[in-house]
Amino acid sequence: AQIKTSSFASSHARVAQAPTDGRPEFAFIGRSNVGKSSLINMLASRKELAHTSGKPGKTQLINYFLINHSWYLTDLPGYGYAVQSKKTRGKWESRTEKYFLNRQTLVTAFVLIDSNVPPQLIDLEFVNWLGEHGVPFVLAFTKTDRKKSRDGGSVEAFKTELLKTWEELPPCFLTSATNEDGRDEIVDFMEASLLD
Ligand code: GDP
Repeated sequence: AQIKTSSFASSHARVAQAPTDGRPEFAFIGRSNVGKSSLINMLASRKELAHTSGKPGKTQLINYFLINHSWYLTDLPGYGYAVQSKKTRGKWESRTEKYFLNRQTLVTAFVLIDSNVPPQLIDLEFVNWLGEHGVPFVLAFTKTDRKKSRDGGSVEAFKTELLKTWEELPPCFLTSATNEDGRDEIVDFMEASLLD
């Protein structure tokens, strides 16, 4: 499986403005700076499809990318950057909830987790919220090429935290945008999901 073509489709401040053509979509979300743009570019084999940001949390837009002329990869605003105000956070929450509770074309959400840091409460809370609301999601651990990730058990630690609440783990992918690890597994998973 392969991503052969990819192009920017549209940006939206509000979920209500998102495409209405009914194409299936996979959403990408995670803490700011988790490596979301890098992973999206890696999956699409493009240098700058999604813009890697020097300024974390700058974009609060939902970006749609059309893949293989048939489905969307949806880049959702990240969460949890340090300078985020209460007001911004509240806005993010209500928009994100609206997206996940109403977006009928969503196939699966990819929640990105930095494999180099111990389990973060904000990630666990977000993943638990998805689980409680029955939103289909998988985990993509990022930056697995880094030393901390190779040495440490942050992937295992995160799974252990989840197993305190849930009986089963979602599908988990280990990814590195630097080494291009995880691309085949993720694209295969997407294609299989689209056939279901
Ligand atoms: P975003 O804010 O989630 O979109 O994150 P970016 O893709 O902009 O990446 C944030 C930072 O992490 C940048 O400095 C990237 O170069 C770095 N980064 C992203 N992916 C990887 C990876 O797979 N390996 C390593 N070592 N660094 C990465």
